Amino acid sequence: MSELVLNRSAYIHNLTKICAKAGGKDRVILVLKDNAYGHGAALVGREAASYGIKFCAVKNEVEARELEPFFEHILILSHIPNGGESERFIYSVNDISLIAKFKKGARVHIAVDTLMHRNGVSVGEVRAACESALAHGLQICGAFTHFRSAEELSSDYFVQRRNFAAAKAVVREICGDGLVFHSHNSAATERFGELADEYVRVGIAAYGYAQFDDSLGLKRVASLWAHKVSGRVLKKGQCAGYGAKFCASEDMQIAVYDLGYGDGLLRYTGEGELKTAGGQRLLGKMSMDSFCCEDAGDRICVFDDARVWADFFGTISYDVLTKLSPSISRRFE
Ligand SMILES: *Cc1c(COP(=O)(O)O)cnc(C)c1O
Repeated sequence: MSELVLNRSAYIHNLTKICAKAGGKDRVILVLKDNAYGHGAALVGREAASYGIKFCAVKNEVEARELEPFFEHILILSHIPNGGESERFIYSVNDISLIAKFKKGARVHIAVDTLMHRNGVSVGEVRAACESALAHGLQICGAFTHFRSAEELSSDYFVQRRNFAAAKAVVREICGDGLVFHSHNSAATERFGELADEYVRVGIAAYGYAQFDDSLGLKRVASLWAHKVSGRVLKKGQCAGYGAKFCASEDMQIAVYDLGYGDGLLRYTGEGELKTAGGQRLLGKMSMDSFCCEDAGDRICVFDDARVWADFFGTISYDVLTKLSPSISRRFE
């Protein structure tokens, strides 16, 4: 059976580096959305919690419930207010016009749009948003923003920091002290030092993928393994798989392994050279539940660096990782 194997010491190493940069375990909001970037939310969440992380962020309430046993604080980033908010979770206010739809008493963080123009209230609306949230009986516990290009050398980051500083001042004036502010994702955390009045909100760095300069010295956590379903000699001139895309120019030993695009791998079409971590070439079109490849024995490491697949398919490591099906078994070793 295919499996995703997680390296515990690499994961703890990354958490340690992130916490050191943030100024302590209490300063880290660990982003565990999308099944912990494909690594397995409950598995990774339990590990992070036993390491000492108390705060995580997720996409929605389904994800929040899965992680509820492990974390003291869970922020739901993409929440759509519905009047049924739980007192166990903290919800992002992503749109000023939806504040009245929250259940009274719900705990919220105000998302501030400082330039990205995705979610959040504009800096000019922060006062009105806070007043309206308080008038509606919401508990404002914090505020945050998201950088649109923290991994690029441009002035955007600095513009957004300045805008967020203005927003924080307004929130403090209205709500007082003791609030949780956060803005730095992985790239921004790598790039800049500890912030006196902020938490960091880090996702991909914990899995070992540097986004800026790898100043944290991160280690990749996951490797994806597949198992051999069958093997054969492909004779010179014979072609393997759908559409006869790959034809042998001489007799060769090939094997079929038990992972395909139905398991969330990006679909290799047989064009171009894509190799496993061990250097075996994938051969022909990938099937739904299997791929064909130069024979590497019973077990093959498909990748231990998602960037190899991301580069091949013209995408990013996040995309490769989050697509991995929850049905693939996962374990720490
Ligand atoms: C996904 C996400 C993050 C984490 O980003 P990384 O680049 O993985 O560190 C932080 N904040 C928000 C709002 C996000 O959606």
